[in-house]
Amino acid sequence: MGFLDFGFIDLIDILLSAYILYLLYIKLRNTAAMNILVGILIVYVLWMVVRALDMTLLNTMMSRIASVGILALVIVFQQEIRKFLLEVGNKTSITNFFSLERILKNVIKESPEELNIPEIVKACTQFAKDNTGALIVLPNHSDLSSIINTGEKLDCGVTARLLGSLFFKNSPLHDGAVIIQKGKIVAAKCILPLTENPDVPANIGTRHRSGIGMSEVSDSLVVIVSEERGEISYCEYGTIYQDVTPEQLSDKLKERFAVSDVRVTPTQTKTLGKIFRFFRG
Ligand code: ATP
Ligand code: MG
Repeated sequence: MGFLDFGFIDLIDILLSAYILYLLYIKLRNTAAMNILVGILIVYVLWMVVRALDMTLLNTMMSRIASVGILALVIVFQQEIRKFLLEVGNKTSITNFFSLERILKNVIKESPEELNIPEIVKACTQFAKDNTGALIVLPNHSDLSSIINTGEKLDCGVTARLLGSLFFKNSPLHDGAVIIQKGKIVAAKCILPLTENPDVPANIGTRHRSGIGMSEVSDSLVVIVSEERGEISYCEYGTIYQDVTPEQLSDKLKERFAVSDVRVTPTQTKTLGKIFRFFRG
């Protein structure tokens, strides 16, 4: 009756497996990937039945299919895997979590790196009021140099007036996306990758599709204002959240980019920098 032995580790095993399956369900529900997953589960159950009944021919066929199954799964779920890893990497990266640099950065946060959230919200609220199309990319850790190279490089602080003039309809830089990195506008007129996800709402066009695409391939938060509908939306990890209020946008930006209010003087910053370099070796 060895198979009935049930220990503490088995309990943890079952709980963790159940939690992983639950997370998988939450991530995949209402997507085409959910149907594929259900299909795979059905085939797997059938295979178990075939094995239990000792049906040699079917068993051989199904195990051949299963041997290339992992590769097929990676190809089929490519987008979901990328999205999941980006999310996990951004939120819970162990090296990032224990990184002295990150801790110091959060504590020290000198003003040039601080994101001016109220100015972004103010600009987007105004864009929504006067139906000005806007596309703003705010990366967290991702390297966007290839995207920045598609546009015009800039180096200026974030103000609502500047964003207003960049996205003003007759401005030469109004097409494409503005990139805001480390609290600065670093580029405008950038071309973003369009999403290939067939499940995106049918009513949205290329501005929104490029916003979703950008949030699939990087850890960026992408803020979009629709020229047609005057709606504010944002994209995160491949999902678009449409028609959000300025308050919701502000909350999201704070959740992603607000830093500790602790302030230190430049001299203290330098000293902490030296300590950091000493520990890093
Ligand atoms: P809106 O609701 O504002 O009309 P939409 O999602 O319907 O937006 P379009 O009407 O197709 O999209 O918007 C076209 C504009 O979107 C372009 O003029 C350009 O500024 C921007 N855009 C389109 N594709 C890209 C892209 N790949 N990268 C960056 N910007 C893009
Ligand atoms: Mg449109």
